[in-house]
Amino acid sequence: MIIDKFNRIHNYLRISLTDNCNLRCFYCMPDEDYAFTPVSKLMQAKEIEAIAKSFTGLGVDKIRLTGGEPLIRKDAADIILSLSKLPVKLTLTTNGTRVHEFIRMFEDAGIQSLNISLDTLQPEKFLLTTRRDQFALVRKNIDLLLEKNFHVKINVVVMKGLNDNEINNFVTWTKNSPVHVRFIEFMPFSGNRWTSNKVFTLREILDTIEKDFEIETLPAEVNDTARPFKVPGHLGTFAIISTMSEPFCSGCNRMRLTADGKLKNCLFSKEETDLLTAFRNGEQLAPLIFESIQNKYASLGGQMNTDFEHLHAGEIKNRSMITIGG
Ligand code: SAM
Ligand code: SF4
Repeated sequence: MIIDKFNRIHNYLRISLTDNCNLRCFYCMPDEDYAFTPVSKLMQAKEIEAIAKSFTGLGVDKIRLTGGEPLIRKDAADIILSLSKLPVKLTLTTNGTRVHEFIRMFEDAGIQSLNISLDTLQPEKFLLTTRRDQFALVRKNIDLLLEKNFHVKINVVVMKGLNDNEINNFVTWTKNSPVHVRFIEFMPFSGNRWTSNKVFTLREILDTIEKDFEIETLPAEVNDTARPFKVPGHLGTFAIISTMSEPFCSGCNRMRLTADGKLKNCLFSKEETDLLTAFRNGEQLAPLIFESIQNKYASLGGQMNTDFEHLHAGEIKNRSMITIGG
């Protein structure tokens, strides 16, 4: 088992398949011109499988594929099928634009749950946020997943002045659809123009919802990073991921592998461990994995030791979100 200094058992690995994407969400892509990692520097399909096996051998039983956009990788289907044979619960976070091409293979791979990112229910705002006119396609693909009985979580990054006025429309969506909306506080990453006044907090989200709905708190699972709620009588639920205003690091069980094969022990870790080069050199990965997790900080990569209101994005050393894998 992979256990850190704070007795947190790490059984959940997120693997980024690529730092490339077919959308251009301004809060995720860095501001400056960004050169995507050349294919030779990315983990190849067989390398992903082998490195994932090193983790499952150490007790990892949940893998989430992410990116960038995982489904734009040409060999995404091969990777998904190979990982589905491991003793893990396999899930995926996607922007939803390619779901219709993959839905059959998701079923073949035994995938039951997916996270789809959708920050707005308005086509024009979708275009403004992602710089691509794909709202109708994403929305249709969500319906397709629901028709096929997938468990669908909708990731909504809430940004003050952009989409905080749509929170209750998302909650209304949960009335007749079994969608599980997850409101995510806007987080700072390299080049994403984060400022503390754009964060719409857990408290503000709950106050907004309580104006229109009665809220019931649902029991959270041990390693849950999201606080779950529902409106009584609604088919779906909603949850809030309050990384900035009320971080939830004490139950963290996550590790992240970037598309170029670097292990990050936290979304906000400065340090990375190069597992891909070690693997290509024939080294054992287990000691490197243990060492990385032993060095994990109690919270937020040891980087945010102040209230988020006093935080300056420039002080945080990290990659952009698209190169980490959310
Ligand atoms: N392309 C896929 C997608 O959009 O779902 C997977 C990768 S994306 C980096 C994973 C998640 O991170 C998405 O739900 C996205 O909204 C979220 N995300 C990206 N930048 C963020 C930020 N600055 N703050 C909070 N969440 C962010
Ligand atoms: Fe692409 Fe997802 Fe980032 Fe948007 S959030 S740019 S869809 S990786």
